[in-house]
Amino acid sequence: MWKQLLVTVGTGVLVLSGTSAVSADQITPQDLVKTTKSLQQTEQRLHTSQQAVAKAERRAEATEAKRDAIQKKIDYAHTQLASYETALNSETNDPSLFKQVLAAVLPIAKAEAAVSEKIETDLKMKKAATIRSLEKLENEQAEIEAEHKKARSSHSAAYKQLQGQATQLKDLKRQTAAMAPEKFMMPAIGRLSQGYGAASGQFGYTFHNGLDIAANIGTPIYVAAAGTVTDVKAGGPYGKHVFIEHEIDGQKWTTVYAHMHKIEVKKGQALLQGEGIGQIGNTGNSSGPHLHFEVHQGKYAYSSSSAGNTVNPMDVAEVLGGASPIKTTY
Ligand SMILES: [Zn+2]
Repeated sequence: MWKQLLVTVGTGVLVLSGTSAVSADQITPQDLVKTTKSLQQTEQRLHTSQQAVAKAERRAEATEAKRDAIQKKIDYAHTQLASYETALNSETNDPSLFKQVLAAVLPIAKAEAAVSEKIETDLKMKKAATIRSLEKLENEQAEIEAEHKKARSSHSAAYKQLQGQATQLKDLKRQTAAMAPEKFMMPAIGRLSQGYGAASGQFGYTFHNGLDIAANIGTPIYVAAAGTVTDVKAGGPYGKHVFIEHEIDGQKWTTVYAHMHKIEVKKGQALLQGEGIGQIGNTGNSSGPHLHFEVHQGKYAYSSSSAGNTVNPMDVAEVLGGASPIKTTY
């Protein structure tokens, strides 16, 4: 196909065929970036909600344990209270008159009565103290109960939110998957001015390793797939150019964007598919504003006389962004 392309380049007539651009026509790179970004945000929110649910669950469990401990204390206080009452009843069953009579008659009986009264006072005090601590425990129990309820309701609210986000995430994943090209997308909208393949050698190479997309200076360039900027350079035959590495289904790729007017990314920057990286220009060995776009399988390796590890972008990159991103005839 490229031979025919080269022949027709000279006459200004290009006819391209075999690209699968139909479904992606309505989707712009901006749409793709927006959906991918909200997908990432939802994933982040989902993670936060998961943590909130776990925290609320731990809190609910902790209040349950506290509640059980207080209940044990209350039960014990009730047992004590019952035993004090039994003791006091057995004391008061003995009529005080009898004690008085005994006290009047015998000094020993008087002493016994005093001891008996002391026991009674002691028991009454213990009973009162137990009632007070029981009241305190019951207040504490009510507080714990309220806290527990709150923890449970915040747990159920967080869980509900989590479920909502999970559904949202599923929808967004489906949406993004439907939008995103499987591998690469064409990085710019313009006119295909030179195809991939053997070249005459008049520009110093007998194999054109990339694809040339001609457009006005300043036309935006989008990254062809999600990846990381591995290098940004300003000179040489490529002029201002950017190298981006991608990992797609376990396979490493490198894309190159050359002759740029303006570079808008930095080395090490992570990018979503379709994010802007700069503008089309006319820097380096270039005879008119265009983007020279290369796709390498693995690391970047240049050959001026063979394909090397490059592939034809037309075979792997889908057209995205408007009705006719790469105009085919002139
Ligand atoms: Zn080129």
